[in-house]
Order: sequence, then C-alpha cells, then structure tokens
Amino acid sequence: MRIWLRGLLILIMLAGAIPVAADEPRLTVTPGFSALAQGNVGLLTVQGVGLAGVRARFLNRLIDCYQRDEVWYCLLAVNMEQQPNPYPLEVYGWFDDGTRETWTGQVTVVATEFMRQDVTITNDLGYLLEPEVDRAERARLSAIFNRVTPVHYWRGAFAKPLEAEFTSPFGAWRLYNESLWGRHTGADLRGPAGTPLLAPAAGRIALAERLDVRGNYVLIDHGLGVYSGLAHLSEIYVTRGQYVRQGQVIGISGSTGRSSGPHIHWEIAVNGEWVDPAQFLQVAAP
Ligand SMILES: [Zn+2]
Repeated sequence: MRIWLRGLLILIMLAGAIPVAADEPRLTVTPGFSALAQGNVGLLTVQGVGLAGVRARFLNRLIDCYQRDEVWYCLLAVNMEQQPNPYPLEVYGWFDDGTRETWTGQVTVVATEFMRQDVTITNDLGYLLEPEVDRAERARLSAIFNRVTPVHYWRGAFAKPLEAEFTSPFGAWRLYNESLWGRHTGADLRGPAGTPLLAPAAGRIALAERLDVRGNYVLIDHGLGVYSGLAHLSEIYVTRGQYVRQGQVIGISGSTGRSSGPHIHWEIAVNGEWVDPAQFLQVAAP
C-alpha cells in the first residue's frame, strides 16, 4: 500500500478514537414555540446521539420527558396565573455511556387576555356558591392530576370529546350569581343533553363519580402527567381503573353540578396545571 494512503487510513482511525471535547454540546434542544402564553402548553424537542433519558426543569417543576422514535419530547405547561416574565429552562440529558449534560435557556411567559363572564345558576344550587365547596373539589382533583403515571397511553393527536364548537373559553373570570368569583378551568363545547362523549385520547380512568361543582365527572389519566376531565354528564359509562381507547364512549352529556344548562365542560391538566384544551389540540404532542 502506498505510504500516503496508509497515513490517511491511520488518520481516519485516530479521528474515530478521539473523544468528543467536553465543551462540545451533545444535546440539541428545539422549542416548538417562541414564547408561552398563560394557560398554554409548549412542546420541547430534544435530540442527541446515545441519549438515554431526558428531564426538564421549568417554573419550579421537574418534568419527565418521553421518547418517541429516537426523539425526546417535554411538555411545558404554564399556570393561567403565572406572572408574565422570562423564566429559566434547564434540560438534563443522560447518555448510554454514563455521561450527563445540561442545556440552559429561557422561556418568556406572555399574558393571555382572559374574558369575564357572568353566570347565573338557580337558587336550589346555591350551596355550590360556597367558596369552600369549590376549593375542596379543586384540591381533590389537583392531588390526582399532580401524580405522573410513567406510561405513555396516548398515541398522536388528541380529539375533541364530540364534534362541536367551543362556546366558553378556558381561563375566563366568572362571577356566579353576582357573589362568587372563579376561574374557568376548562373550555365549554356546545352540545345538547344526551350526546355521547368520547375519550379525547387513550388512557386510564382516574375518577368517575358525582362531584359537587362538576356534577357527574370522568377524569382520564393519559399518562406522563396529562389528564382530561369531562363534567356535567347525565350518565357515566366507565369506572375507576378502567382502560379506555381514543374515541370510546365514556358517558352522556347533561347538566349536572354547577351548570346553567346542558353543555360539555372539557378540561385538561398537564404537569399539574389546568391548560387550554383548544390550544392543547394544536400542540399535537406525539
Ligand atoms: Zn366549563
């Protein structure tokens, strides 16, 4: 073999053995957004050769990211009352060879213009205007949806629980009977009583029972910190612990609980925060 060719081969072999410099980043972090609005969710894409696990820290929460087809995804949720500001974002990656790497950046939270609504409910439901009733129910649900099930039950995009338009938006400031202020934790869909409601994505039933404010209620755990709830049902067709597939009928719409008439209240929680279901549909987390 000619000497210059042997030299070239040795060079190539050496190049392959040269360790990656410690300051050369191996994590590639791509936010699918430029800023995040209050009550919205952002999808972060993380890639790296030999990446074995990814977590992110944002707004004081440690988020378990998930893998799909060699790519890692992190869902960043913003509380509807989060102060608009830039906030640090850290992404931690660990690799097959036991090494770790941290990526640091920041995400700006911007304000959402939430509307104000006056809601009137009938006098016989007056006990539902007690602040303690509302608070206790929220605390109970929050304790459930703050738990992260380390299973990825859903596949692909979420779907509305019925084909209908949104009537009342997420996060609205609501004044009930001119006495109790509240925030709308979900978004309402137009629909008469008696309409079958479908699971927005696959998951496991975390709660299926009658609550004070939400009436007959079904909460689905979609895994990885994502939950969706359907309220005011006339009938519930599922039980706690049951697995459901996307599109499976979980109940029938109605007007039970603190409701001023038949409609479908759909709410989604991601990593411990209620978020806008209409916006979450656009995020298309794989
Ligand atoms: Zn509602």
